[in-house]
Amino acid sequence: METETIPGIGLNLIGKKESHTLHEVELRRFPYPYRAALTICSDIDETDTLEQHEAVQYFIRKTIGIPFSNSFFPYHDEGKLSLLSGRPSDRSAILEQIRGGTIDVIHSYGEKKDFSRRDVEPVWEELRKHGCKVEVWVDHKDASSNLCKYRCNGLGDLPQCPEYHMDLTVQSGIRFIWTDRLTNLVGQEVPFNWKSVSILYDPQHAWDSFINMARTVAKIVLSFLGWRKYDFFKSNCLIHKHRLKDGQWVYEFIRFNNHFKGAAVGDTFLDLYYLISDKVLSKLKEVEGYCIVYTHLGKKFAPESQSAEETVKALRNLKKESDAGHIFVRSAAEILNYCIRTRYLNWTCKRQSETYLVHIRSIDDPLFGNYVPDPRMLRNFTFYIPKGASARIILDERQILNTQINPADYSGRQSITII
Ligand SMILES: [Zn+2]
Repeated sequence: METETIPGIGLNLIGKKESHTLHEVELRRFPYPYRAALTICSDIDETDTLEQHEAVQYFIRKTIGIPFSNSFFPYHDEGKLSLLSGRPSDRSAILEQIRGGTIDVIHSYGEKKDFSRRDVEPVWEELRKHGCKVEVWVDHKDASSNLCKYRCNGLGDLPQCPEYHMDLTVQSGIRFIWTDRLTNLVGQEVPFNWKSVSILYDPQHAWDSFINMARTVAKIVLSFLGWRKYDFFKSNCLIHKHRLKDGQWVYEFIRFNNHFKGAAVGDTFLDLYYLISDKVLSKLKEVEGYCIVYTHLGKKFAPESQSAEETVKALRNLKKESDAGHIFVRSAAEILNYCIRTRYLNWTCKRQSETYLVHIRSIDDPLFGNYVPDPRMLRNFTFYIPKGASARIILDERQILNTQINPADYSGRQSITII
């Protein structure tokens, strides 16, 4: 019997194998048959009541029919929708939706003027009691619990402050954080390319988009000169390892907003059409990148109004791209975990006659430790295999039976996917 063992390791930034040639077996960058991945990541600001929140959820998930990312406030001084608002309906709806994955982001510890470390445990205690897991943190406006480096007045990772909480927050399960980092270049986790800058110019909004482009060029130049505030332009990673001010390491991710008037203006439901326009989605597919869109669906949420026509049309177009197998649309938690797990997947491939044995050993996570993944963590993972070959995927000595062989994709290669 002919046997050949080929080592494999995770994907690097451009989705190619880092150091090994795997002959014809290769970890596919995205699940079959997709060419790009996107999430609409909405902050909960201005979604003041449970009714408003339910309306947004229903519209995007049912009327349009796509998953997206939504967040929650643990506290709110003015009694707006929040986990610990004191209204049982808020509490049970938020807990149920976190459990079901339709809320996956904690939006700082919310709006609480006297926030301090002692407010942290009641939040996580409540989540733990109800089997809720949250891995993604997003800073909110000027909340003192923020983690930002350059604005937003975050004190959450400064051990000398009463607001310090990040040790408890990481212990409670947060792995990914977003602070204040926004890009307007389409497609992350692919090398920086000046062509992505040129498409910022929009003849329909000539002056605004020109200014926007000029500002972006300045930031990119500063990034190449070593200006740390803008270093994410140069690397163009979706996720990078970040050392908090208390010395802990977490994954920091970048969000996208290319609005011609800037992200601070173009962050509402009515502006969403511009962020997921046909031009953006085509570029995203072309560069085969990741994209986490920054928006607030509760701001100016009026899907029935005439001014929402363009956004509704763009959302339906995104749904079509998803159904056609072009763009993998999921929540932020799913996209971020997929990106990290494929990046650090430790696997080998052995050939026995015409059968390829893909052996998954572990995920070698440099921040939170190596682990053997649960098969559910590997759902949608896809490996290219030679045409006509048979393949099996083995995880920790046991074959994963839920797999399917896919016909050739747009690149002409056949593949096997864990389902
Ligand atoms: Zn916010």
